[in-house]
Amino acid sequence: MNTTSNDPDSARIRIPARSGVAVKLVKGMTIKVINTHGHQVVDTWAFNQDDIGESMSMEHSRASILKLAPKVGDALLTNRRRAILTLVEDTTPGVHDTLIAACDKHRYEQLGVIGHHDSCTDNLAAALASLGLKAQETPCPLNLFMNVPVRGNGQLEFAPPVSQAGQYVALRAEMDLIIVMSACPQDLTAVNGMRPTDAHYSIS
Ligand SMILES: [Zn+2]
Repeated sequence: MNTTSNDPDSARIRIPARSGVAVKLVKGMTIKVINTHGHQVVDTWAFNQDDIGESMSMEHSRASILKLAPKVGDALLTNRRRAILTLVEDTTPGVHDTLIAACDKHRYEQLGVIGHHDSCTDNLAAALASLGLKAQETPCPLNLFMNVPVRGNGQLEFAPPVSQAGQYVALRAEMDLIIVMSACPQDLTAVNGMRPTDAHYSIS
């Protein structure tokens, strides 16, 4: 982390490539999730700090915003239909995914991996465990920067991110929450441009 004062980047904290981090946010705080190298997907989850059984839900959010991905001003809802995060800034072209499950060991087995492969599902569990917490399931993540084009016939595709290095989204906490971000380790499809990298975040 760069600690130079007056440097707008000084508060940037690293999400190491292929890893996840969990961060507690108080209601009203804003977190910037930065696509440091431009082609890294960040799987993102949010949980009510007081009840981990309440979590950000893509299916409930889509029913509210009536879009495949949130735009600036849109609130993401929990599985109890309460606002948990609001997208307040997006310097990317706005391409994010809410449809695709987090990668897991089964996904990598099906892609032919023998032995261990890092996964966003394991990263979520490890990040929560670092706070002494455990989720009962892996909710569908908000896949920041993930490019899953939806064709006119409904066909989906995995494509590289269209964001540029340094672009970011800012999310405001609408309740006291735990946000988990995983720098997706997928290196067998195009979603991270075939090259997983670090990402960063900052809190204000
Ligand atoms: Zn992943």
